Amino acid sequence: MIRIAIALACLGLPASAAWLAGAAKVNINPAEPIWLAGYGGRERPSDEILQDIWIKALALKDDTGAVSVITTADLVGLDTKTVETVSARVRAMHGIPRERLLFNYSHNHSCPVTGDVLKLYYTLTPDQQAAVDRYTRRLYDQYVEVIDRAVRNLAPASLTFEQGLAGIAVNRRRSRPGGRKLPGPVDHDVPVLSVRGEGNALKAVAFGYSCHATALSGYKINGDYPGYAQQDLEERNPGSVALFVMGCGGDANPLPRIMNSTDAPSVELASMYGRILSVATQLVLDGKGAKPAPVEGPLRVAYGIAEVPFQKAPSRDELVANRSRFTGARLRYNNYLLSQLDREGKLPDRYPYPVQVWRFGKSLTMIGLTGEPVVDYCLRFKGQYGSDNTWVAGYNNELLSYIPSLRVLKEGGYEGTEGIPEYGLPAPYGWAVEETIALKVDELLRSLEPK
Ligand SMILES: [Zn+2]
Repeated sequence: MIRIAIALACLGLPASAAWLAGAAKVNINPAEPIWLAGYGGRERPSDEILQDIWIKALALKDDTGAVSVITTADLVGLDTKTVETVSARVRAMHGIPRERLLFNYSHNHSCPVTGDVLKLYYTLTPDQQAAVDRYTRRLYDQYVEVIDRAVRNLAPASLTFEQGLAGIAVNRRRSRPGGRKLPGPVDHDVPVLSVRGEGNALKAVAFGYSCHATALSGYKINGDYPGYAQQDLEERNPGSVALFVMGCGGDANPLPRIMNSTDAPSVELASMYGRILSVATQLVLDGKGAKPAPVEGPLRVAYGIAEVPFQKAPSRDELVANRSRFTGARLRYNNYLLSQLDREGKLPDRYPYPVQVWRFGKSLTMIGLTGEPVVDYCLRFKGQYGSDNTWVAGYNNELLSYIPSLRVLKEGGYEGTEGIPEYGLPAPYGWAVEETIALKVDELLRSLEPK
């Protein structure tokens, strides 16, 4: 033990370092004009690249030899096929199991459409669809490449964690009781995981925030405010990789913002929000405020499925009758459900919802939720498990839909019930949505407690 401590000291690492860490990033700019994701109202493909977009990976190997990888992306979301394809290839290549891969995305609304993500949102010509297919196939290879490079970069490192603060997010819901528009609940925490290598140099920083990446719209490729935050952090810390991890931003927007614009004022806002987030993160990295706590291993992980119920789906008779009543997007959704009913014999009454939990020794608990959870999930789990050392990451795995809390579901509105058709789900979630997910999180965390 003394010999290890001396060796670590020689490398300029604190004696508590027991990790190997590696980080990598791969540029995912499209090679041709392509339809952009996230907004339904666009009328043509992208026309230029305003800012590079990336996928990134942080590989962590603890002293048991287990390797875990956090991936982040300047993408609106992923589909199930992408997650499964990449996971299978990474398992075959490095033996890393599914539960040790976290697929987070920033929910960037200025990136290409990929795979089946929000498939009912867009009506693409065959040529436009072919460009999306080419981009998606290349993305599979790029995910495998970035993870492979991060794993091959593994080297001694020390980890610390602390929460910063940034006041960018505003609760955007319009349907709260009493007619009050703003403010509503938000989570302004900025969780910061620093990874330092030789000479205490910053090798990587994973930082989070709970807010839609919707400061920009229009037809230019960029990473929105998370893209600007990552770029700024990497410029402040040369040689490092900055990874943005989205939190529970389902009902939060950066405000003010200007819709349908990539004009100078919008870019100014997006880069300003990015700069605020970057500075908030840098303050934590520099130890201004509470001293970041060492993060110890081992990293124990668990992955499970919460069977989240839907409300009653429409009957075949209702769907058939709707064909002559609906037009546009509503008709598209109606016909999509009807074809699913024909194909599968019934519409699903529940969604198999992936939940991941990662426990770093006794230092840090990371909860990975799927889709677009509203802020109540972040606030609830931090209240339940400790606000200083719990990190709730939403926007992992497939972008299945908004995930309302019971409060938001009761209130209705876009994130509660009205957004469901855009995602092709058969009905709004049932009243048990929040408790079903919370029970699964609790069950998985309990399974990681020392016996
Ligand atoms: Zn969204």
